[in-house]
Amino acid sequence: MAVKQTKIILRLDPSYKKCPSCGEVNVLRRSRTKNIFESFLRFTGIYKMYRCRKCNWRGPLSTIVITMQSVKNAIGFAFFLLIIYFLIGIVIKEYK
Ligand SMILES: [Zn+2]
Repeated sequence: MAVKQTKIILRLDPSYKKCPSCGEVNVLRRSRTKNIFESFLRFTGIYKMYRCRKCNWRGPLSTIVITMQSVKNAIGFAFFLLIIYFLIGIVIKEYK
């Protein structure tokens, strides 16, 4: 069976990444996502969380690699959030 290839829709991967805070090159490291918003950013494939080893800056940086899978993930995740939102809405109404 052939390995299913991931179709890349768009790629904007900078060859070097500069810290937006201190401007130092080659000090950024990928950081773990810490909340649902950061997870969503990661799922979209547009932003990834980075941390600067020099000044301790932390934030999302655009590393645009959009694949069919990342689009599906983003839609799925948005749908999931919508369901959670409605469930919370129902619970809040019930216990008012
Ligand atoms: Zn820095």
